[in-house]
Amino acid sequence: MNFDYDLFVIGAGSGGLAASKRAANYGAKVAIAEEDLVGGTCVIRGCIPKKLMVYASQFSHLYDDAIGYGWDKVEPHFDWQKLITAIDREVRRLSMLHISLLEKAGVTLMQGRALLVDPHTVAVGNQQFTAEKILIAVGSEAVFPKISGAEYAVTSRQMFKLPEQPQHIAIIGGGYISTEFACIMNGLGSSVTQILRGDLILRGFDHDIRTHLQSSLIQHGIQYLTQTAIEKIEKTNEGLQLSLSGGKVPELTVDSAILFAIGRIPNLDGIGLENARVAVERGGVVVNEFSQTSQPNIFAVGDCTNRVMLTPVAITEGRAFAETEFGNNPQMVSYKNIPTAVFSQPEVGTVGLTETEAKQQFGDENIKIYRSTFRPLFHNLTGAEERTLMKLLVDRQSDRVLGAHIVGKDAAEIIQSVAIALNLGATKRDFDATMAVHPSTAEEFVTMR
Ligand code: NDP
Repeated sequence: MNFDYDLFVIGAGSGGLAASKRAANYGAKVAIAEEDLVGGTCVIRGCIPKKLMVYASQFSHLYDDAIGYGWDKVEPHFDWQKLITAIDREVRRLSMLHISLLEKAGVTLMQGRALLVDPHTVAVGNQQFTAEKILIAVGSEAVFPKISGAEYAVTSRQMFKLPEQPQHIAIIGGGYISTEFACIMNGLGSSVTQILRGDLILRGFDHDIRTHLQSSLIQHGIQYLTQTAIEKIEKTNEGLQLSLSGGKVPELTVDSAILFAIGRIPNLDGIGLENARVAVERGGVVVNEFSQTSQPNIFAVGDCTNRVMLTPVAITEGRAFAETEFGNNPQMVSYKNIPTAVFSQPEVGTVGLTETEAKQQFGDENIKIYRSTFRPLFHNLTGAEERTLMKLLVDRQSDRVLGAHIVGKDAAEIIQSVAIALNLGATKRDFDATMAVHPSTAEEFVTMR
């Protein structure tokens, strides 16, 4: 049977872009459909604009820190609209760049929402196309609560478009997005209340990291309401009023912004999976280790498969799919030792097992813990109380380093290289045998006793 395309990709985000270009490089005839700006969550409304906001928010701390280094105090003025406009311009530039990279690779871009009609047919608008293989790379969307007044709240998608800077923002959730935005808005000068249903932020991270970071954020002025649920939101003359339960405070009023960041779910509604008999389980597309769905010619990568919701994972899955199906080079993705960072202030970097996981897997008595907290040299002159935490978990028997964790400046940059060592199976002796870079924060990982 003749098809219009060898590969039709639904969704031009990180996973879809990576897969389509790699398949086209192998000579496949490829089309990709996108209903929004090309680039997906990471480029358009996630990692990239978020990191630009992080940069913007760091200046206020630097202005304060500079005083200890002999600079006069400045009275800075921050312009929210100017930042939002600059970020929007940059995001659109990056989107255009991705379009030109698709063109260069020979991939046909179709602007519009794609719908699976049958296992080999995709509709975009009122046109239909056939393809030998189809890749679903439609990403995820924020979970939104079903409470009265939810329409007054926003998700991270709208945070990059708020018409004005809130004076006081309530942020619900304690994960990556809520913690990063709590620090961003705090740095930009808004008052921040983060509301947790439990006691601590960043469930799933090492316990020391969670407690150390949360104490640092409290020191920075972020307020926490713990063991607290949101019952409803009402608009009043004073602003937006949250009715709360379970915690110490029954209600909270903020002027204009409430952010819900309580997780993300695959974005699968209305793409016609049932027409192509593609199975879904626990909200995500079911795939095997080669990203193949229950329909053998249809594949899925990235957030929509509910494996690990991280951009580099989606890109790796997309490329592995293209290598396997079009490059005659079967590749399975390894999900071991995925390093990750939370761009809080201070940052978190982590790779490998947490202390709890290491003890569960190897037994309490078999885990040696190296932990160090110290005031980074930079703050010796600023007078700030902020302390860095670094931690290594080592298997006593093999001496292998099982986990590395850091809360502190440049944690993301540091943990990337440590992840290489863990992937190579480095032992504590290997770490010790590595010469330190002095003076640096990273040297602590090779000098811990
Ligand atoms: P996360 O899964 O990281 O965190 C969800 C948070 O919401 C948890 O603190 C959870 O609390 C809380 N929560 C869940 N349900 C409710 C509820 N009904 N009421 C109140 N709180 C609730 O989700 P995010 O939305 O922050 O991020 C989504 C994904 O995006 C992440 O998993 C991550 O993979 C990715 N991401 C990665 C980034 C990075 O790499 N730097 C940055 C941003 C996003 P509890 O602890 O009690 O379970």
